[in-house]
Amino acid sequence: MENVYDYGIIGAGPAGFTAALIAAEQGKSVILFEKDKIGGVCLNKGCIPTKTIMHSADLYKDAKKSENIGIIANDIKIDFIKLMEHKNKVVETLRNALTKSLQAKGVEIVEKEAKVTDDNIVKTDTQIYKCEKIIAATGSEPKPLKDNPFDHSFILNSDDLFELKQVPKNVLIVGAGAEGIEWARIFNDLECEVTVVEAASRPLSIADEEVSKYVERLFRTRKIALKTSTTIEKIENKQVMLSNGETLSPDFVLVAIGRNIIKPQLDGKVTVIGDACGQLMLANFAMYQARALVSGIHFDNIFVPSVIYGTPEIAWIGANEQDLPLGSYQKTVYPVRALGKAHCDNEIEGFIKVLTYENKIIGASIISKEASALIHQFAIAMQNEISVDDMKKVCFAHPTYSEGVYESIMML
Ligand SMILES: Cc1cc2nc3c(=O)[nH]c(=O)nc-3n(C[C@H](O)[C@H](O)[C@H](O)COP(=O)(O)OP(=O)(O)OC[C@H]3O[C@@H](n4cnc5c(N)ncnc54)[C@H](O)[C@@H]3O)c2cc1C
Repeated sequence: MENVYDYGIIGAGPAGFTAALIAAEQGKSVILFEKDKIGGVCLNKGCIPTKTIMHSADLYKDAKKSENIGIIANDIKIDFIKLMEHKNKVVETLRNALTKSLQAKGVEIVEKEAKVTDDNIVKTDTQIYKCEKIIAATGSEPKPLKDNPFDHSFILNSDDLFELKQVPKNVLIVGAGAEGIEWARIFNDLECEVTVVEAASRPLSIADEEVSKYVERLFRTRKIALKTSTTIEKIENKQVMLSNGETLSPDFVLVAIGRNIIKPQLDGKVTVIGDACGQLMLANFAMYQARALVSGIHFDNIFVPSVIYGTPEIAWIGANEQDLPLGSYQKTVYPVRALGKAHCDNEIEGFIKVLTYENKIIGASIISKEASALIHQFAIAMQNEISVDDMKKVCFAHPTYSEGVYESIMML
């Protein structure tokens, strides 16, 4: 057999391409199989296009709402076609750069569906490859409602949103998790009426309860209707019956109730990483897991930060307060409105919450502008077991949101 490789990797999303790049850097021969587009969900239908659209929505909202700080912007309009073209360009640029980087490192890319047929054998429709190690990084796909499959015209998933031709006027989002919250704020920024229905008793039920309460408050302020402990009873003739007795008639329903893993097709022994392993469905988790697997660094789920790009951003790492035994920890909650920089930016919403045990950080939750950056200060401290006392010795620049990290630590 001629096709012999050190690594056969199935799926070129964050998990697969990271594993491929690192293995190639180590001088291994790598073959990477992708049945759709290089970059996976994250680059093509997830993180990158969402945050690009979000940036445009932010600019629009900020321009419209800055009269009180002396900016009067008349005649501001959304050119949605251009907005989406820009999103496509960003995705394409990054996909090309990633493809070139893989090729430059000597990764062989096969743009085909692959199947593991034996411990060391990967097959496509035309070829057989012998691989010393096989990694399945096959990812995940949108999960439909039980009795209402996606029809892609009224019942949509997040993939469908990237094909929208105009800003909707009225949207119903099912699910107040990461995806639901991000799309709710995008549509709200674009002046669309948004209703979010959530089966659990609070939004973001995987986060700290204080975060959920604050999100509820933010939704109220932004006039996003949130209906918790509510489910979809029936969808018929573009009418949506809810379990609370209400009937809604949105332009469409976005189903954002999570994702199903794509089980790799296999008969042999392989290592499964990323979304497909069914743990944390985050690109940073997928890349961290890939790095740990191929380069042998220590891996622990507890050090994986979660970020949700709401307004403001939401981020957390480690323990949530409700999961800790009473009296076993210390806690501080520092309000963002106490920071000079927050007032300079007119962005005073949020808090920084820190949980500690025996002088070490065990968890942090942040709602703030720049929360996506701030959370890493806690990630570095936790992973490297830096004590609270040592964090207090650090000089934080002024005026910054990082001063909120310092202030929250100083309260301990
Ligand atoms: C709308 C949205 C927004 C998101 N935003 C964020 C965010 O801001 N931050 C964040 O961390 N995460 C975000 N995520 C989640 C993130 O996209 C995923 O966690 C990440 O893409 C998982 O990476 P992966 O490599 O495991 O899988 P994927 O990215 O799903 O890649 C798997 C790849 O495998 C390919 N494949 C599957 N089976 C085969 C086969 N048999 N042969 C060949 N190829 C195959 C697929 O085509 C796919 O390209 C978002 C997701 C969505 C949907």
